Amino acid sequence: MERLQKVIAKAGIASRRKAEQLITSGQVLVNGKVITELGTKVNLDEDEIKVNGKLLKIPEEKIVLLFYKPKKVITSMKDPKGRETVMDYIDVNLRVFPIGRLDYDTEGLLLLTNDGELANRLMHPRYEFNKTYEAVVKGIPREEDLDKLRKGILLEDGLTSPAEVVKLRDHRNESIIRITIHEGKNRQVRRMFQHIQFPVLQLKRIQYGFLTLKGLKVGEYRLLEAEEISKLK
Ligand code: URA
Repeated sequence: MERLQKVIAKAGIASRRKAEQLITSGQVLVNGKVITELGTKVNLDEDEIKVNGKLLKIPEEKIVLLFYKPKKVITSMKDPKGRETVMDYIDVNLRVFPIGRLDYDTEGLLLLTNDGELANRLMHPRYEFNKTYEAVVKGIPREEDLDKLRKGILLEDGLTSPAEVVKLRDHRNESIIRITIHEGKNRQVRRMFQHIQFPVLQLKRIQYGFLTLKGLKVGEYRLLEAEEISKLK
């Protein structure tokens, strides 16, 4: 329960002082009754509040979650085949959804939000942040092979823009390559490596813009701070 004037002010339609005036001047209805007494307690989930005939709605708090997605988890709200989805890991009262996607077999950094505008912007090619992946690939590519990824590769859905690519190490017949791209074509990293004939065996997104997985274990998430969110905008 909260004081009526506070609830009105929180909805962003008037200052606290103005909200008090709206109440005392009889412009506020609670459950169909005019309420002129300041300090009347209301419950937003149950009470219907109208100001000048308009239903009061409290804007939903906008949040962004940084999730360490495990492998073998689907990036979607529901899976018709009943497989585990990222939503099985998220326990918040707001209706968040994933920003973009990671493949079923890819692990790593995935953002979720209830802010549709932010999600659209982040997914728009013009604003896309760098995304860095660590790929374990089959075989040991030479620098000439990696140069093709650096220059851009013609996939069925277009040319990829230049990528930053660093070979970190190799062992037996596998290599670990760090690759940074700023687009988000479907299965892009896997298709890029497939194209140069070094298929991806394992893939992990380790960075999104300035955000990393630091402090998180697989399957865990944290709320972004207001300052981090503003850097995404
Ligand atoms: N590229 C891929 O191939 N898979 C992902 O999950 C992300 C980027």
